[in-house]
Amino acid sequence: MEYLTIRQAMGQGSGRVSVRGWVWRERGSKKVKFIVLRDGTGIIQCVIEKQTAGDERFAVADALQVETAMTISGTIRKDERAPSGYEIAVDSFRMVGASDTYPITKDQSPEFLMDKRHLWLRSRKMQAILKIRATVFAAFREYFDTRGFIEFHSPIFQATQCEGGSSLFKVKYFEGETFLAQTWQLYAEAGIFSYEKLYTIAPSFRAEKSKTSRHLTEYWHAEMEMAWAEFKDIMDHGEGVVKHMVAKVLEKHREELAVLGRDPKRLEPTVRKPFVRMTYDEALKVLSERCRLKVTWGKDLRTVEEDRLSSLYDVPVIVSEYPAEVKAFYMKGVEGRPEVVQGCDFIAPEGYGEIIGGSSRETDLAVLERRLKAAGEDLSGYEYYFDTRRYGSVPHGGFGLGMERIVSWICGLDTIKDAIPFPRTPLRWTP
Ligand code: ATP
Ligand code: MG
Repeated sequence: MEYLTIRQAMGQGSGRVSVRGWVWRERGSKKVKFIVLRDGTGIIQCVIEKQTAGDERFAVADALQVETAMTISGTIRKDERAPSGYEIAVDSFRMVGASDTYPITKDQSPEFLMDKRHLWLRSRKMQAILKIRATVFAAFREYFDTRGFIEFHSPIFQATQCEGGSSLFKVKYFEGETFLAQTWQLYAEAGIFSYEKLYTIAPSFRAEKSKTSRHLTEYWHAEMEMAWAEFKDIMDHGEGVVKHMVAKVLEKHREELAVLGRDPKRLEPTVRKPFVRMTYDEALKVLSERCRLKVTWGKDLRTVEEDRLSSLYDVPVIVSEYPAEVKAFYMKGVEGRPEVVQGCDFIAPEGYGEIIGGSSRETDLAVLERRLKAAGEDLSGYEYYFDTRRYGSVPHGGFGLGMERIVSWICGLDTIKDAIPFPRTPLRWTP
């Protein structure tokens, strides 16, 4: 028996087809049973009539529960009334895997759905998000693959911090201890001296104690690092890859966006228009003049400020040249203004927060040592990193992009937890 996917069957549109999947909805009367079957590609209504099936088979069909796995053969035809516009008049069916009474019914709490996450993945909502997520990953790779970058991998067990000690996960490592990666960056900075243009997509770990709708403790981090880069190159690639990811989703996932109730028009400006670029100083001015929010120079932008700023534009905003004191030790100072660094944050529209953090990297070894010492770090762990500045150092830089942040924004999600199959937060590490 050759099975078509539900999408293929609807593409065929008429004649005999065989499909397989899971019962998504079922209802019936004494004479007819309606099953909406779901597979990885879509849903389709299937009708089993008592008259054609006979009493015995109809009784079996009538007892089918939601999430039963089954195969169905019959004649497909257009039907405006059916949920996906097509219907199969069933002439035979087979139960492959019976289903107990499915625990997920309508109107359950978000916490219950998290407990049953392994089942909730089957929902139309999660299916749509996961398809979009996969396209976002593929688009990131495609953007850099076609521009001469290669994929490069850092270890996940790392000996030092990079993004601040407070969010490090310590791991017992035989007799000693190590940390889970917060970023691949320091290792990528070693890697560029071999191949120059690198990217990765890998999990990063942050022991974020604050529970926000934007933070996970384990997230997928898409990063790039390149030799000979000017600060502008970093921002240009950030803008280029975000545009490419959004364009790919708009091209391939109109249906999934509709399932999510996400208006594609909200995303179109990002593809069509240049991003808004402003310095930190300009951002403070805009916040004060247009949002009546006063930020003292030297303070980082908080969630409220990022959200207000993003609400002024329909494309991402790139804020650059932050005060050195709020940014990481490795960021390079601005020429003639050492209190400001060549670092940038991309802030997504609609209050989705920071999606990219990037910078030019400091090349002066003495400056790096001074900053790390001031942060109370034991320099011995960074010897391998210092070597990158001792042997043929060049201007370079890169950025990190949070995949779940961008998926949340593209899909218009209420929480970042829905942007990943099995979310990890301070309070949730099962299933
Ligand atoms: P935030 O201020 O929002 O916590 P950050 O400044 O700590 O972000 P970076 O260290 O620059 O972030 O990390 C690069 C990117 O990784 C961020 O722009 C964001 O998209 C993503 N990211 C950072 N922390 C998290 C997290 N806990 N969960 C999900 N994504 C994250
Ligand atoms: Mg953070």
